[in-house]
Amino acid sequence: MSHPVGAPPIPSAPAALRNVTLPDGRRADIALHEGRIAAVTDHRADGGAVRGGTSVDLGGALLLPAFVDGHAHLDKTLLGAPWQPHRTTATLREQIADERELRASIEVPVAARATALAERMISLGTGHVRSHVDVDPDIGLAALHAVLGVREEFQDRLGIQLVAFPQSGVVSSPGVADLLDAALAEGADLIGGLDPAGFDGDVDGQLDIVFRLAERHGAGIDIHLHDGGESGTAQLRAVAERTAALGLGGTVTVSHAYALGQVEGSELAVTADALAAAGVSIMTNGPRDTMPPVLRLREHGVRVFAGSDNIRDSWWPYGTADMLERATIIGLQGGLMTDEELHAAASLITGEAAAALGLTGYGLAPGDRADLVVIAAGGVPEAVAAHPERLLVLHGGRVVGPAPRTAYPRLTLAPPEVGR
Ligand SMILES: [Zn+2]
Repeated sequence: MSHPVGAPPIPSAPAALRNVTLPDGRRADIALHEGRIAAVTDHRADGGAVRGGTSVDLGGALLLPAFVDGHAHLDKTLLGAPWQPHRTTATLREQIADERELRASIEVPVAARATALAERMISLGTGHVRSHVDVDPDIGLAALHAVLGVREEFQDRLGIQLVAFPQSGVVSSPGVADLLDAALAEGADLIGGLDPAGFDGDVDGQLDIVFRLAERHGAGIDIHLHDGGESGTAQLRAVAERTAALGLGGTVTVSHAYALGQVEGSELAVTADALAAAGVSIMTNGPRDTMPPVLRLREHGVRVFAGSDNIRDSWWPYGTADMLERATIIGLQGGLMTDEELHAAASLITGEAAAALGLTGYGLAPGDRADLVVIAAGGVPEAVAAHPERLLVLHGGRVVGPAPRTAYPRLTLAPPEVGR
């Protein structure tokens, strides 16, 4: 945000945000106290209830609770390192091997790259992120340890939830079950999974291990499921069945679930009903050949939320960490057009994601945490359609973004090649 010359500096922990537009269109003043929202009152030009203290007049800009990025890979990003051309491979296993080789060759350590991504998330208004972290026989728990350090470093600026992610499979990769067990003991909040049929070729085998470890550690579950068609929906129902049987509703997510965008009629309806009844959430990041039908799933009562997934890594050269842009992408891909549908898109990166992650004190009501983002838009539909500039980001009531522009940023570039 450019700051007018001569204007008072923005306080590091304002007592109030004045003159903001709420998601329902009301203009309000927000009093803050000890990291939380103390009061929400109709905006009054004279300051009204929030007179006194240090307050910021935001000129009618849109206020939302800070975004929740429901799916990222802090350990995989290559941000902070020079650009790496995307390498295509024939199979998923080849791609996994290729990623391992590439990450071993990158000189910038995991913690530095994860830090670069976390900083970018904060500057764009993200207050909480669920990150999967690779756990496999090659890297063991090294990536987890690095990201646990980053989580501690960022505890006052960004909430980080970690999923121990078996990128190399569970059943088909000896030793991974023990590593996942250790990862949960050492601070991972959830256990992940990967295409039980398509990758491990053993649906019950993988799900037995994942659900057993989740129960043992009281951890949540978040499974990557790319398997398509009726194999995918059968696995979704298997996850729903186990979730219901163990009473784990609300703590289980299936990420991607492309299959839901590939089936229709009763196959979709029966699967959606099973997910809703069991309390299994679906995470989508949007761009692939197919994506889950967001509005139809919501009609069936399924909780859908959004995440960035890969951000400039060996899997995917794209990604900006901007959750508002993510809502734009999902809205475009999902054909969300009306204001009501754009509000639904916004909920995927705010309330629905917060609920899926089990965050408490999330929202814009008195008593909620002052994890907030102010956006240069007059309302939610405009914000989703245009993902405009972030004007102010607060975490626990303290200003954490966007970073003031005092000079042009230093880019991380590869050394110039001589003679080209
Ligand atoms: Zn992922």
